[in-house]
Amino acid sequence: MKRDIQSLTLDELTQVVLSLGEKKYRAEQIFHDIMLGKKIEEITTITQDLKDKLKEQFEDEQLKILTQKQSADGTSKFLYSLADGNIVEGVLMRYKFGNTLCVSSQVGCRMGCKFCASGLDGLVRNLSAGEILSQVIAVNKLLGGTLQDRKISNIVLMGSGEPLDNFDNLMQFLRIVTCNRGLNFSERSISISTCGLVPKIYKLADSGFKINICLSLHASNDQTRRSLMPIAKGYTVAELLDACDYYFEKTGRRILFEYILIKDVNSSTEHALRLAKLLSKRNCIVNLINLNEVKENDFKRCSDEVVNRFAEILKSYNINVTTRRSLGNDVDGACGQLRRSYIKNSTQKGE
Ligand code: SAH
Repeated sequence: MKRDIQSLTLDELTQVVLSLGEKKYRAEQIFHDIMLGKKIEEITTITQDLKDKLKEQFEDEQLKILTQKQSADGTSKFLYSLADGNIVEGVLMRYKFGNTLCVSSQVGCRMGCKFCASGLDGLVRNLSAGEILSQVIAVNKLLGGTLQDRKISNIVLMGSGEPLDNFDNLMQFLRIVTCNRGLNFSERSISISTCGLVPKIYKLADSGFKINICLSLHASNDQTRRSLMPIAKGYTVAELLDACDYYFEKTGRRILFEYILIKDVNSSTEHALRLAKLLSKRNCIVNLINLNEVKENDFKRCSDEVVNRFAEILKSYNINVTTRRSLGNDVDGACGQLRRSYIKNSTQKGE
């Protein structure tokens, strides 16, 4: 298969252009238009001859928006189709300070967290850097954004997949998306959500990119965490928190700990107190998420009282706590739900 042109950094594109006997500045023209979501054929600043040569070497339309569902609260849920027929999903959240796009890093996921719908069928494949990036390019274009006037201000890699399990493509994505000749996202406007691949957290800390980490903790002790997340069998909570401390020291970015509240599993006072003790000395934020129930498992969400009590206990230990607003519930907001219901429906219809 041909390489996708969106997976190239400006430097790499420059090498390509020079190897085709063209002037260096052509690379910038091409890069600019590709970041705007144009196909090679639609680039107006280069000759037909160069377009033809590029098309011989590169794929230029490896991701398309398949459907967009708009929720009453303004959240949009997207399904994207990939060139090989695979499907991934994403969410656009509108806040007062700007739009945040939640993007996927893999088709499926092999982490196997018990409460999550994304990993039910395991990992299908990694997304290329260009496929991760193309979600941003496509939605920015759809919203009428340009490079100078982007319609997306923040990116979170919190869709399907485990970003640190696709590390090299994540790095390449960061190189391209932060390039000041392209979309020019600042590192602080980019977050990844991870279930905690400890060695990769150290590697990311040493990578030079100072992006934000959202750490899917979901439990305050190893036993409970292991019952929910297979990855916890490889790394203890203590080892994970050590890695988080290192990340904070290295980058100065506060970790945001995500904690899904699941009825009768991790939401009692005992769990809250233990979490409070673990985190009270750390400069961090805790984001409490009431479980999004999915029909493939029996986990239940908590009542508002339980969520509030849990939050109050953490606050009494001076921990910064936010409670995630549940956005887009009416459009299958939970991870992996929309893709699953789409695939199921099209299979039932025999498509
Ligand atoms: N693999 C990464 C990112 C994808 S999941 C990670 O584990 O963080 C994004 C977030 O959604 C994670 O915090 C995940 O734990 C959470 N999540 C998954 N299923 C959920 C559900 N049913 N209800 C609420 N949050 C869920």
